[in-house]
Order: sequence, then C-alpha cells, then structure tokens
Amino acid sequence: MRIKIDKDLCIGDGSCASIAPKTFRLDLEGKAIVIDEYGDDDETIKMAVESCPVQAIIFDEDK
Ligand code: SF4
Repeated sequence: MRIKIDKDLCIGDGSCASIAPKTFRLDLEGKAIVIDEYGDDDETIKMAVESCPVQAIIFDEDK
C-alpha cells in the first residue's frame, strides 16, 4: 500500500477527498478511505496529504 490513513487521527474534515476525489472519499463513519491509490496524479495526492490538518495520511510515492 502506498497510501495509509490513520483512522484514529482522521477528523473527517474531507479536505483530502476535496483535493483528490479519485483517490480519497469519506466512509459512512465520516473517516477518510482510499478508493484508488493511483486515482489522482502524485502531485495532487501530495497536495491532499499536505492539506490534512492532523497529518493522518502517509504517502510513499515510490511504491
Ligand atoms: S484530510 Fe485528514 S483529517 Fe481530513 S478527511 Fe482526510 S485524512 Fe481525515
């Protein structure tokens, strides 16, 4: 897995899903999930990762 989300940290603000909607979405509990690790280009995924207010997303672009 190249993208991991720490669900305990996620506060469900949805900014990752707004910036990279083909990669992230919120589940029924309002926590972020990865729907496609290659859904958006790497730069977009990086912007989504940096937008997370609680640093809940770990992205290893080399995988
Ligand atoms: S940006 Fe971070 S806190 Fe917000 S929904 Fe995504 S993983 Fe959760």
